[in-house]
Amino acid sequence: MVAARDGGLCRIRLPGGRLTATQAQAVAQAARTHASGAIELTNRANLQVRGVCAGSEHALSETLMRAGLGPEADVPAIPGHDAAARENACAADDLRNLMLSPLAGCDPEACFDTTQLVAPILDLLQGEARFAALSPKFALLVDGGERLAALDHPHDIWLAALAHEDSVAFAFGLAGTPCDGALGAVTPAQVPALIRALLHAFLDLAQDDKRRMREVCAVHGAHAVLQHAQRYLDFAPLRDESVCRWTRASVETAARLGAHALHADGTGYAGAQPPLARLDAGTLDALASLAQTHGDATLRITPWQGVILPNVAAGAMSLVLAQLRTLGLVTDPAAPLARLIACTGSAGCAKSRADTKADAQRLAASLPAQADVHLSGCERSCAAAHRAPWTLLAVAHGCYDLYARDAAHAGFGRLVASHLTIEAAAQRLAQPPRSTPDV
Ligand code: SF4
Repeated sequence: MVAARDGGLCRIRLPGGRLTATQAQAVAQAARTHASGAIELTNRANLQVRGVCAGSEHALSETLMRAGLGPEADVPAIPGHDAAARENACAADDLRNLMLSPLAGCDPEACFDTTQLVAPILDLLQGEARFAALSPKFALLVDGGERLAALDHPHDIWLAALAHEDSVAFAFGLAGTPCDGALGAVTPAQVPALIRALLHAFLDLAQDDKRRMREVCAVHGAHAVLQHAQRYLDFAPLRDESVCRWTRASVETAARLGAHALHADGTGYAGAQPPLARLDAGTLDALASLAQTHGDATLRITPWQGVILPNVAAGAMSLVLAQLRTLGLVTDPAAPLARLIACTGSAGCAKSRADTKADAQRLAASLPAQADVHLSGCERSCAAAHRAPWTLLAVAHGCYDLYARDAAHAGFGRLVASHLTIEAAAQRLAQPPRSTPDV
């Protein structure tokens, strides 16, 4: 729980982005009873309840923990970790992000069902007091080779399944994505031990101000971090030619939205996203009911701030899509609101220089085709873990600098134009790319 301009903010970690329909209903009920009713989907596939009423924090946490959400769900076997400790952990914003594919466990084309690794990884993350020092933003990706995975987001540690000598191994790397090439590979049974060793190595090498793996790798190099991790391992990771030459198959992130068959009988999933990652309690309740009626009574929150309903029968798919649209969710990847992300903005964050969500809604009316835009109220970039093709960085109320993603420029990219209104930004985005910024 943290303070925000619009009241308390309760972050609900969802290992692998998964929650049951019953848990979704509990979140909706808690948001309605103890907060403003607004719920956000995050780019680490978590939920957050906004506008928690002063004095209701304890009741909200209790409601969520009774539903199996929060620390209590993950740590009952840890000696000495009683209810008070769990609540303290919750209050301390004790989040660690374990990200799986939203299709983990239900994509027949995947190399490995990564859902079976969730419990041992969570046990190790919460079983050693030292790991509480990890940044709440520290993110682990365990990729089973599904057709949908967060390959556009950098992760502090990533592992990705690959076929290896009639079996499966997990390639791994640091501060990047499975598209970057692997440092080595381990067997599925060795995955928890490898993660543990890499976390200890990170904490050994990180200076006080270095909170993310990319910062430690920038100082020491990824191979040195791995070499340091070796002192915590009783096996050596594989580094044969097949691992070194392995490349992750690309994914089409547009497949996060709409209807997609996964099996020969047409059973598959329906994907949608609420406009600008925010929905109300009633909509979350309705999503839970849809999953109970037409899916497998689970929801998967995606790292693209959307939701997937898995295991929908072919015959129900068009009805589910229609109901998702009736609820106000976007199901078409070409729709303007599927191509816009915005941080909380000045309505909920004191750091914001503009009302980014309201400005994004205005931009949606004139957003040129093909333009994917991120509106950020300040340099912290809370809404985007990745670098968007275009970023509008607020400089004042209703006024933005425009950046284009560019490998030669760090941060948001190349500054293209300064001090644009939303209308001027839409016009500039419609123009062909230029080599000289208009600043
Ligand atoms: S990016 Fe900045 S302004 Fe936006 S929510 Fe984060 S801290 Fe607030």
